[in-house]
Amino acid sequence: MRGIYIHIPFCRQACRYCDFYFSVSLRYLDPFVDALLEEIRQKGESSTGHSLETLYLGGGTPSLLSARHLERIINALYKYHSFQESPEWTIECNPDDLNEHTVKSLGLLGFNRLSIGIQSFHERDLEIMRRSHNAEQAEASVLLASSGGFENITMDLIYGIPGQSFDEWEENIEKALSLPVSHLSAYHLTFEPGTVFDHWRKNGRLHPVQEEESVDQYRILREKLLSAGFDHYELSNFARNGMSSKHNLLYWSGASYIGLGPSAHSYDGERRSWNTSSLKGYIGGINNGDKIDETEQLTSREKYHDYLLTSLRTRRGADPAYMEEAFGLEFRVHFESSAQAFLKNGSMSAAGGRLFIEPGQWLITDHILRALFMD
Ligand code: SF4
Repeated sequence: MRGIYIHIPFCRQACRYCDFYFSVSLRYLDPFVDALLEEIRQKGESSTGHSLETLYLGGGTPSLLSARHLERIINALYKYHSFQESPEWTIECNPDDLNEHTVKSLGLLGFNRLSIGIQSFHERDLEIMRRSHNAEQAEASVLLASSGGFENITMDLIYGIPGQSFDEWEENIEKALSLPVSHLSAYHLTFEPGTVFDHWRKNGRLHPVQEEESVDQYRILREKLLSAGFDHYELSNFARNGMSSKHNLLYWSGASYIGLGPSAHSYDGERRSWNTSSLKGYIGGINNGDKIDETEQLTSREKYHDYLLTSLRTRRGADPAYMEEAFGLEFRVHFESSAQAFLKNGSMSAAGGRLFIEPGQWLITDHILRALFMD
């Protein structure tokens, strides 16, 4: 195992576009942490004992946890795992949870990377998405994190928000670039089934942006970040000074990791497992010694597809030699022959023995992937 992901399933309020698993009732926070410690013990005792490279607390809203909660979690992790020298420890934070005190205690606890869910610097966008912070807090949180000693700060932005003008999106990028961030993730808004936004789209209250507009927004994002010295190393991710997300790079390179907490996924190189997406089921299951996860053994074809889906989103791309070793010669042959058409038309390139999709073509990744998949 090379990394640990912990899902903290609580949020102050439900954002209208979000389909992650979380609860807005904080009633079960303490029982959740107790159950999590037990899961750390159980999975820690059966893990391979490798030194871990990364820890990632995501959610939900991990910054809702108190320093005491976090300290208990970290102590439990240290009891059952060791970390390599200078591991990357990321915690996702919402801007309204950050103040001088919380930033300081996160640093003292060992976190060295803050992922701040800004989404937009415009009040109207934040209101329509029902974020719990305002525009002033969005900017202030990054400055607080920086003055509190964090050098590795990443922020999330969302584009394709209905009603957001092209100029407003450009202003968001410029504002982000004026702040001390080393990394930026930008995601296109999606209308996930069951969300308020999806309901509003269906009843005509909200209209998704036109595809050309999305393409233009992605283009300007890429142009501005590249000219500011950022490396566009993955479809939605940009880093400067080599500060790409080590944790996400583990996912994208097919490495093994442990997922803890409700709805968290784990992968050991052969099997994928996922915990129940129910807070009560998770706490009750752990307390009663019941099974809380399901596991599936992956076929070579599934592993090949997973590898394509993740590696071809990155600038490193996919390694045919690795495919042969991990999945079998037939997959390498299929990949190399089906990639020929894209190498010829310039959508893909080869370097250092690897094949990758040209970053300027990442918007057609799905189309390319379909052709590379094995029927
Ligand atoms: S804070 Fe994050 S996880 Fe929680 S509802 Fe909003 S987007 Fe979803």
